[in-house]
Amino acid sequence: MKKEEQFFSENLQEDLENLERYIEEYSLFLPLAVYSVNPVGIIVDVNQTGKELSKYQEIELIGQDIEIIFKNPKKIKKFFNQTLKKGSIKNREMILVTKNKKEIPVRASASIRQDQEGNIIGCFIALNDITEIKKFQTKLEDKVKQRTEELEKTKNKLAKTLEETKEAKRKVEGEKNKTSAIISNLVDPIIIIDQEDKINLYNPKAKEIFGFTKSSIGKKVKKKDNYSMENFKEILKKDYEIKKGKDMEPANPKEEELIIEHQGDKLTYKIITTKVYDSKKRCIGTMKTFSDLTREKRINRLKTEFVSIAAHQLRTPLSAIKWAIKMILEGDTGPINQDQREILTKGFESNERMIKLVNDMLNVSRIEEGRLQYNFAKTNFKEVYETVVGNVKSKIKEKNIKFNIKKPDKMPSVYMDKEKIRLVIQNLLENAVKYTPVNGTVTLEIQKQKKNLRIKAKDNGVGIPEKDQKKLFSKFFRAENVKKMQTDGTGLGLFIANNIIKKHGGEIHFKSEEGKGTEFYFYLPLNQTKK
Ligand code: ADP
Repeated sequence: MKKEEQFFSENLQEDLENLERYIEEYSLFLPLAVYSVNPVGIIVDVNQTGKELSKYQEIELIGQDIEIIFKNPKKIKKFFNQTLKKGSIKNREMILVTKNKKEIPVRASASIRQDQEGNIIGCFIALNDITEIKKFQTKLEDKVKQRTEELEKTKNKLAKTLEETKEAKRKVEGEKNKTSAIISNLVDPIIIIDQEDKINLYNPKAKEIFGFTKSSIGKKVKKKDNYSMENFKEILKKDYEIKKGKDMEPANPKEEELIIEHQGDKLTYKIITTKVYDSKKRCIGTMKTFSDLTREKRINRLKTEFVSIAAHQLRTPLSAIKWAIKMILEGDTGPINQDQREILTKGFESNERMIKLVNDMLNVSRIEEGRLQYNFAKTNFKEVYETVVGNVKSKIKEKNIKFNIKKPDKMPSVYMDKEKIRLVIQNLLENAVKYTPVNGTVTLEIQKQKKNLRIKAKDNGVGIPEKDQKKLFSKFFRAENVKKMQTDGTGLGLFIANNIIKKHGGEIHFKSEEGKGTEFYFYLPLNQTKK
């Protein structure tokens, strides 16, 4: 060899060694597992990462079929053959199985090695550990799945809510239809005013009676007297009469009575005005409801008229009977024997009771019609109570009742209707005697007070059961205990007495305990001079 040639050859040798070292270091440093295989698939070399990934020693790998480190031998065979055919293949996912049987997901790329003449001398197979990517991918997939599920759920919920809303809407619609059908079909008028004081709704009956028209809707109604029907006169241009309720307190449902001519009839309506609230207790307007009192009024009038006529017709024959019996009893028609006297006396008493009943009924019907006449005059009270005591004396005696009178030395004069006050005291004293057993005690007490004269009838009789006490001044009311005693009575006396005392500007009260006794007392104003 020439000197020159030798020099080059030595230098080439050195360069080659350097290159080999460089490649080795480079491949050591690479995080890519690289397996070099021969054309039949036998591993001939492996880098550091290749050993670490498969957990095999170099010695265990070299000479082995490449299949040894893969889960699916068929798949790697195919991959290998395709590489030989195509020259290179990139990024095929496969499962590597380590020496200790752990499965690792990898991405495989391969490329053939050729000699200078182009003959295939082998192939590099590079594996990339994609465990983390896979994990991330699975996590991502899980997340996507979870999110999809959540979305699905939300979608279902939304669909359900939508369905429910539709259903609720249908229900509301149904309720609305029902309500408006009810309002429309009501036989009595109804008017609804909104929060802005405008007429918001009226039903067909209101239209018929008051002549509402479409143009009435939206018209403003004055608030005065709780939207009194008086305020509708301007809007409706209708004639009607209005009576206002007694208890016109603000905040309370207020009452009015309205009289209107309709098709030749005079109709009477009671009107109640109430606020309308929605389900959340918010005020949404005001409603005026009308109830037809026409029939009730007519019946009441007929009833009173009937009682008044019947009582009048009864009075004359009853007083004829009274005087006839009285004459016989007093011997005007000749002497009578004891038996006849007893029978006639019973007849006389029954007739008296009948007269009282008729008088009570007449008084009640007069009170109700506002026709009970009063003759007020300043009268000494002596005149009144003495007559009454005289009238009840015989009954007191019959039952052997101890009767006391407590009175002032000088009896005052009172501005009153003496006949009516007599009626009151007589009723109280008769009750005291009637509802006190034999040998009981009844006291009449007249007391002059600063402003009033107080008259009290007190007994130690059967008393009034507590549950009956609040109804005592109502018409025809009789307490349970006296009904059982079979005492006769109408339940009208106290109703009449209460009315008479009120007319005198006084008050009537009572205290009672069942089984112990009762006291009724009333006051008459002393300084009254005129009514
Ligand atoms: P009556 O004709 O039944 O006595 P009143 O109107 O005078 O009618 O009295 C009504 C009711 O009040 C009586 O039925 C009775 O139950 C009760 N009452 C009135 N006064 C007395 C009394 N002194 N003792 C017990 N109960 C009485």
